[in-house]
Amino acid sequence: MRSRHSAGRRCLTCEGPLWRGDALTELADRREFRARLEEVLAFAELTHGKQSDRCTAVMLLDLDRFKAVNDSLGHPAGDELLRKVAVRLRSALREQDLPARLGGDEFAVLLDNPVTRDTAASIAARLVDLISRPYMIDGSIANIGASIGIALAEPSSTLDDALRRADLALYKSKADGRGRFTFFEPSLQTAAEARQALEFDLRAALALGQFELFYQPKLDLRTDQLSGFEALIRWRHPQRGLVPPDSFIPMSEELGLITRIGEWVIREACAEAARWPDSLTVAVNVAPSQFSTGSLLPTVQAALAGSGLSGSRLELEITETALLRNGPDVMKQLQAIKALGVQIALDDFGTGYSSLTQLRSFPFDRVKIDRSFADDVQIVRAVTALGASLGMCVTAEGVETAEQMLRLRGDGCTEAQGYHLSRPVPSSDAVKLIHRYLKQ
Ligand code: C2E
Ligand code: MG
Ligand code: MG
Repeated sequence: MRSRHSAGRRCLTCEGPLWRGDALTELADRREFRARLEEVLAFAELTHGKQSDRCTAVMLLDLDRFKAVNDSLGHPAGDELLRKVAVRLRSALREQDLPARLGGDEFAVLLDNPVTRDTAASIAARLVDLISRPYMIDGSIANIGASIGIALAEPSSTLDDALRRADLALYKSKADGRGRFTFFEPSLQTAAEARQALEFDLRAALALGQFELFYQPKLDLRTDQLSGFEALIRWRHPQRGLVPPDSFIPMSEELGLITRIGEWVIREACAEAARWPDSLTVAVNVAPSQFSTGSLLPTVQAALAGSGLSGSRLELEITETALLRNGPDVMKQLQAIKALGVQIALDDFGTGYSSLTQLRSFPFDRVKIDRSFADDVQIVRAVTALGASLGMCVTAEGVETAEQMLRLRGDGCTEAQGYHLSRPVPSSDAVKLIHRYLKQ
């Protein structure tokens, strides 16, 4: 049975629909949702004080991994999935509550009566659970999840306030790993303001020349020679100080700035490495979204041509997220880059979902064992043996002690990198390190 809201509002005189609602799912659409919320908030203001522990609850709900299903099973299957989500949403709510599809894979729920925080929490938990159960679509099983942000509207809340708060809570659910619900709280607003300020500064950073590359040496354990450096970006901000990459690379990806930042990194690293002895390589990290514009290959070509660095002295480090997110197209780009003589390394090995599958999917030149395994003798041994059998070099990251270094050597690991050798250093100090090593 369709809920009384499913076909939109009815005109009082002719009984015809005033709004048609969302055609795909027959839930309310954004317009109807906003109108109902506005009405409910106005009513809540009138009745304020009578039920003070109860509030109007607005939930914004985004599907997790919907895009992957859409991409792999096709758009008609994606549409079918959205319809099934709508059915589940409706089944979990009371007749008088209002579920809506705001667009794409964004849904919203307005609970008809004021509720306590506990009630809102238990409804949200039920929705997360229900939507995360597998779907059968065209004979295939689709698995998605749901992230929810909840705003408990205060009586004086405006429509936009309530939606903005629910949106901030939704953002937090996603940032915390998805598949969960979060209530709005004022600290989320403060965090959003800080994020906005960071975003503003980050957009200007490249033009202001605020990025720098630090270089961390890598030691060839078979020859005890310096084999090269990994280039690691830093953002030198006049007030924030030296900002580490983990604090701005994800945001650069989100904002679509990473392609240009990544281009700068590749150009700068190649120019720097061209000044080092020929035996030394430079490794550059490539973010997953750098594969999405198709500009990586020309960037690498231009950086090599501009610096005169031979392709074999450049190594690109990619993570398995890049392989998973972009599928076969990434493989093609990697093949073309590899054809320039550039080495390709799989970074942070062991931290993802399907590292072993990824290892087979492309002829990597190198595997870098994530530093979280530096002390795990069995893992290091197993990966070293695996790398050897696949003809790949194996680098252990995060080597902090002489003891770890000794063990790696014994286990046949080919390269070591970590604080025990040196922390990442500015380019001028990298040159000093080179002289020191070459003298030995
Ligand atoms: P990563 O590529 O795995 O780089 C290694 C990270 O481990 C570096 O952190 C390095 O400073 C740190 N590290 C090295 N040796 C040790 C050690 O012995 N102990 C410990 N605890 N840590 C060690 P950093 O420089 O903060 O970089 C973090 C991540 O940011 C990098 O991880 C990489 O994924 C990303 N990143 C850095 N530069 C770039 C860049 O230019 N582009 C992109 N897309 N990502 C970058
Ligand atoms: Mg790396
Ligand atoms: Mg790594």
